[in-house]
Amino acid sequence: MHIARRHFLTRTAALISAAALPLAPLRGWAVSTLTAGDLRIDSVSDGHIEFPPDFAFAMIPEAERGDLLRSLDIDPLAVVHSPLNITLLRQGDRVVLFDAGSGPDFVPTAGTLVEGLSAIGVSPEDVTDVIFTHGHPDHLWGVLDDFDEPLFPSADYRMGQVEFDYWTDPATIDTIAEERQSFAVGALRRLTALGDRIERFQDGAEVLPGIRAVMTPGHTPGHMSFEIGSPGDGLFVIGDFVTMLAGFVRPDLGTSTDDDPALAAQTRAAMLARLADEGWTVLGYHLPDGGIGKVIRDGQAFSFESEA
Ligand SMILES: [Zn+2]
Repeated sequence: MHIARRHFLTRTAALISAAALPLAPLRGWAVSTLTAGDLRIDSVSDGHIEFPPDFAFAMIPEAERGDLLRSLDIDPLAVVHSPLNITLLRQGDRVVLFDAGSGPDFVPTAGTLVEGLSAIGVSPEDVTDVIFTHGHPDHLWGVLDDFDEPLFPSADYRMGQVEFDYWTDPATIDTIAEERQSFAVGALRRLTALGDRIERFQDGAEVLPGIRAVMTPGHTPGHMSFEIGSPGDGLFVIGDFVTMLAGFVRPDLGTSTDDDPALAAQTRAAMLARLADEGWTVLGYHLPDGGIGKVIRDGQAFSFESEA
């Protein structure tokens, strides 16, 4: 297996020459690439989300928080930049996206997927399949274009049955935490727009040849992860069952973005153990530097060894 060094593609040159433009943050599209046989996997950036540290680290007991975060080179008081890494798989005629990004309506720092794809020569029309890990805005909302049409016109769409049922259940809006009600409204609108085009699958299903679904609930009720190929010659798509480095050190703690923190913690601990012991190369949606790396075990704790 070969993992290319991370490289940046920017439109810096054009922006710098337009000297009259006000100073705006320059957007870069980070891409990491992994190849195994005829399989090519890119981690394409959809930008990032910013969280106040009090929110992001709320589940870490205050007495431990400073030391734990500093041991990971994280400033406990700084705004957290959570990256958004979309897995793009190309094999033969297939161009498969795992999740569709945030689109323009979630947060201003996200929604760069189409530009990221275009920087590596992939257009929305090229995408043959979109497979969702779960229905949160940073994974689902990018699926519709500005006209509420599917952004990837030729694609087949797939989501786990339990997850699909949760977000399309009219009762979810009343049972979900108040601060996440907009998630429920947004998901329902998008899944309704996709209608019959979205195929559902069960835990353990071979979603596409060589791609197997592994249900990893807790972050959301029907969250799915995916095995692509085998541990020595493939990739494990984590999605959001671990979303930050602190989750490797203390998998027993929930996180503020988990729907069911206790179940999420149970899933996280079991899955990290499995990924470390089986030796998978993984791609985490919110992990640093493109999110590709290995899970290293140290007793009941783990660490993420980035391969960027
Ligand atoms: Zn997410």
